[in-house]
Amino acid sequence: MTVSSVASSVVVVGGGIAGVSTVAELRKHGYTGELTLVSADPIPYDRPPLSKDYLLGAKGLESISLQAPEWYAEQRVDLITDALVVALDPAAGTVELSDGRELSADRIVLATGGHSRWPDLERVVRELLDRPSAGRDIPRSTTGIHTLRSDDDADALRHVLLPRARLLVVGAGLIGAEVASTARKLECEVVLVDPADPPIAPAVGVQVATWLHSLHAVHGVETVTATVEKLESTSAGVVAHIAGEAEPRTFDAVLLAVGMVPDAAVAKAAGLEVDNGVLVDDRQVTSHPNVLAVGDCARRRGHRRAEHWEAALHDGQRAAATILGVEAGAETAPWFWTDRYDLHVEVVGEMHEPDSEHESVVRGTLGEPPFSVFILRGERVIGAVAVDDPATAKAARRLIDRGVDVRASALADPTTDLRKLLRAAR
Ligand SMILES: Cc1cc2nc3c(=O)[nH]c(=O)nc-3n(C[C@H](O)[C@H](O)[C@H](O)COP(=O)(O)OP(=O)(O)OC[C@H]3O[C@@H](n4cnc5c(N)ncnc54)[C@H](O)[C@@H]3O)c2cc1C
Repeated sequence: MTVSSVASSVVVVGGGIAGVSTVAELRKHGYTGELTLVSADPIPYDRPPLSKDYLLGAKGLESISLQAPEWYAEQRVDLITDALVVALDPAAGTVELSDGRELSADRIVLATGGHSRWPDLERVVRELLDRPSAGRDIPRSTTGIHTLRSDDDADALRHVLLPRARLLVVGAGLIGAEVASTARKLECEVVLVDPADPPIAPAVGVQVATWLHSLHAVHGVETVTATVEKLESTSAGVVAHIAGEAEPRTFDAVLLAVGMVPDAAVAKAAGLEVDNGVLVDDRQVTSHPNVLAVGDCARRRGHRRAEHWEAALHDGQRAAATILGVEAGAETAPWFWTDRYDLHVEVVGEMHEPDSEHESVVRGTLGEPPFSVFILRGERVIGAVAVDDPATAKAARRLIDRGVDVRASALADPTTDLRKLLRAAR
């Protein structure tokens, strides 16, 4: 990248991977102007470990910080911590902080992420939100109801995940399943409730989703296919009413893991177009040319929101390229990972269910890691799930990105060197 006529001041709002990748990429590619990062946290940190090693107690905040503390000064990034942006004026190019300070810049990048969703239990939520002390951070010590998005959330949850503690996890998606797995390592009694059977099928395909879900029972987690209709905080614990069960059950703690909502309130109040995220174009530009949005808070027009770590990183790279007035790197097939019960699962591309146009091909033996499942449309790979098989995930991504024609029999054979298929296609 080379720097053409660009902004001379940039303010990035939000210190997650999307915001930090934006500032890192700007400096990496020669941006010399003023650069400010506003972080709501004392130090910008990474979120994926919050349901894994951080929750387990194996990692502290320092080891999950996105950059070393001195990096910001070295990169001449003015890091403003413990600060919230409460208002944005796109035309004036200003943001207002919660302490009343105003910052101005030629370009403003929103990287505000999101917060945990509270569906199906609106009555409970409303009741809690009506309490004078409650806001987005529900007072967990008094309610026993948790969500997991921040280090504070993880600390509060870790505090109650003692041996034999009874934990109800509502939602068996990626985060709910990871917490169930971590809680078992901490010797908790875990019940996992989700109406989908199997959960996460759209993300990994029914075959792999069914197998992954069956692992909960193998590891001592009780799974229930139902919805939780009501939660009540009592002195004995949280009483959960699960649909179809005659009697309510009591838990020491409940984790609501039912998705996230993009934090787009500041953008909306500023008049930017918002629809399930701050709407952006292919260059991360919002409906105002001087304001960009990246990561979990943003949604590309005509696309679904990604909600994955690498997508947020790539958004930051693209936003930096836009601000520098240069071409962004080529896009690659989407990728994410998740870990449960000491298994590492990677997903690339799109896991379409088999039909007249789509074929599912297992490499190895399903349910016996390492193994992978590919989805082929004709002779093209369009998606793959790899369990404890990162080399296959990497090769699958290249096969997708390069549009290589492959035979199902070659993919299915674990002795086929996938790199050779790639080399042969050059
Ligand atoms: C528990 C958990 C586990 C996960 N595990 C995985 C995984 O295994 N694999 C994977 O691919 N993805 C995973 N993810 C998803 C991934 O972490 C997110 O996609 C990624 O963090 C999004 O980055 P972001 O920078 O857009 O948002 P965030 O990480 O949410 O960062 C946004 C930051 O902006 C701050 N902020 C919000 N509003 C304001 C404001 N007004 N002013 C200033 N600051 C503000 C927030 O406090 C936050 O610090 C996980 C997420 C969670 C919560």
